[in-house]
This record gives sequence, structure tokens and C-alpha cells, in this order.
Amino acid sequence: MSQAAGLNFFAARYTEARERFLSAALAARARVTSMEHAMQRGPEGEGLYLDVAVAGDPAAPNRLVVASGTHGIEGYSGSAVQSAWLSGPGPSRLPPDTAVVFLHGINPWGFAHRHRTTEENVDLNRNFIDHGAGPRANPGYAELHSSLVPSEWTEASVAGIFAALDAFRARVGEQAFSDAYNGGQYDFPDGVFYGGRREQWSNQAFRAAIAEHVAGAKAAALIDLHTGIGGWCEHVFLCFHAPGSPAWERARRWWGERAVNRQGSTHKALAVYKGLLIDAFVDLLPGVETTATAIEFGTRSRVEMQKASLSLCWLRRHADRDPALAERVRADYVEAFYPSAPEWREAVLKASEVFLCQAVAGLAGQAP
Ligand SMILES: [Zn+2]
Repeated sequence: MSQAAGLNFFAARYTEARERFLSAALAARARVTSMEHAMQRGPEGEGLYLDVAVAGDPAAPNRLVVASGTHGIEGYSGSAVQSAWLSGPGPSRLPPDTAVVFLHGINPWGFAHRHRTTEENVDLNRNFIDHGAGPRANPGYAELHSSLVPSEWTEASVAGIFAALDAFRARVGEQAFSDAYNGGQYDFPDGVFYGGRREQWSNQAFRAAIAEHVAGAKAAALIDLHTGIGGWCEHVFLCFHAPGSPAWERARRWWGERAVNRQGSTHKALAVYKGLLIDAFVDLLPGVETTATAIEFGTRSRVEMQKASLSLCWLRRHADRDPALAERVRADYVEAFYPSAPEWREAVLKASEVFLCQAVAGLAGQAP
């Protein structure tokens, strides 16, 4: 595929991304099923779906799952990766014992509305916890929260946020800072990295899709596609298998040392995350040999991404106070999670094509 053709898969709207994905799936003779979000619509009144396309034999013993849109807006790039793969030579080269299951738009509300979070401001990647197990306190976040959600969005108010973050970090250290700020919090619905008080529709839809399309496999792998951690045009694997475990060894064998060493991360200390989708994938498939990783495509610096995530909290609550400012903040938010530069988009496609190819070969027992 030419570079220009690949860039066509980076859509401007959810409906466009979805149409391109569905037509690429059709052309590749993948089997498509769609789950509609019964309660929510997109900004133009459009229906919202988790679409599943299975390339290859749906009963194949090995299944590679490639997911996009866990963090809504990050789905634009993930969707492009999926559609490009379906439109390239990948489907016709699949070994007979291996299928690829594409999950398109896991959080379709966030995808369509260009938010990282769900309709309830929930970070879906903190939502896969046992919601019946009682409250989960994050006292560090509780201490920070009021400093993170100013009613004004000005240079001074943003500087105030970062002064509070810096002071907290200086006092508790990098790891405790990351756990408090990024790890997930369950008490402040208007805050950042809010994991929610209940399972989100997207959580249920993901689990239903895994039960339907992956349970029963002998071996299964998950690549959950994200953007926002790592340097510009670079990538970071976030693989949480225990070091030295068979799954960890498989990830290293298939994708190389970078799959397990966090090389390229822009986080000085990675939080101990709660409620991750990739962990849920492993838990949902007892008896299946599972290998799961998130792959992040880097965009901006850590501070810039923190600022973008925090700006969404302001936008959700106070955008009507200053529509012109809200529009500028929103445009900057979109650019932070979905860069428009062709060089960035080309780098995403080029790298991910290799990662998918390596995962197929690894699952099929052809890894080096
Ligand atoms: Zn993400």
C-alpha cells in the first residue's frame, strides 16, 4: 500500500472511521458482528457500536485480538491500523491455524465525541475492577483533586495545577505520585483517571466480544492500541505480565526486548494501574494461553499530555463559560491524542504493521 493510501485510513469523524473499517473488513472477507450502544449516540445523532471483524477461520486455535478505542479518541489511530492491515496482504497470508479478531471502537462514545473517557467520564482502562468489592480509596488523589479541576482555564490556573503536582511529587516521590495521579481513582467523577462506580457499557461489550470470539481458543494474544505515552513518532510497549513468566517470555520472543523493558516511556515511574483491559483479557480466558500488551504511540511530552488530560475535565464542566476558548482547548486536546502530521501517522502504520505480523507469527509458532 502506498503511504498516501495508508493516510486515508485516518478519519476525521467516527462514522467515517467505522465505514472504512467495515468496508475493509468486507473486502477481506472478514466476518463482522456489531454491538450497538443502546443508551448513547454520537455528536451527529449517529449510532455507536463495538464492531468485531474476524479475519481467517473464526474457530482457529490461535487468535490475535487487536483492539482500538479503549480510550475513545485514541481510536482514530487504532482504527487506521486495523483498516490498513485488513486492506493489505495480511489477511491472505494468515496461517490456517490463526485468526485475527479486530475490536473496533471499544469506547465508541469517546471515539465519536473525541474524549479519552466514556459517557460517564470514566477511564475505561481503570474500570475493569470488581465493582462489588467496595470502595477503593486513593488518598493521594483525594488530596490533589481540588487543585486539578479549576473553574478557569488560563495560563495562571494551569501553572497552579502544575505547582500543586510538583509539590506533591517532591513530597511523596515519583512512584507514589504516579500511583496517586495516574493509577486510578474511584471517588471523584469529575476528576482525571476516574475508574467509575459501575461497569461501563464498553466494559460489558468487550467482555461479551471476548466470550463470543476468543473463548475456546488454544492460544490468544491481545494488542490494545493507544496513543499518548512515548516520544514523538516512537512507541512503547506496556506489558504487565510478571517478569520471567511464560507470557512475559512469549512477549519478549515475539516483539523483542522492548516488549518488556518499557523502553521509550515518558513516565518516570509507571503507576501500579488498577482495572486495565489487558488484565481483564487474561482473567476472562482461563485455560487459554494468553499474551497481552498495550502499545502506545507517543505524541507529546509527559507534561503536555497531563495538561491535555486535565483540560478535558475543564471542558466537560465549564466549556459553556467561554465557547471560543473551549474550541481552542478542544482542538489542542484532539491534536495531543490524534496528531494530524503525516509523518506521525505514517510512523504509526509502519510500526504497527510489523507488530501485528510478529504477533501472528508468534501465535502460529513461527517466532524466531
Ligand atoms: Zn490510552
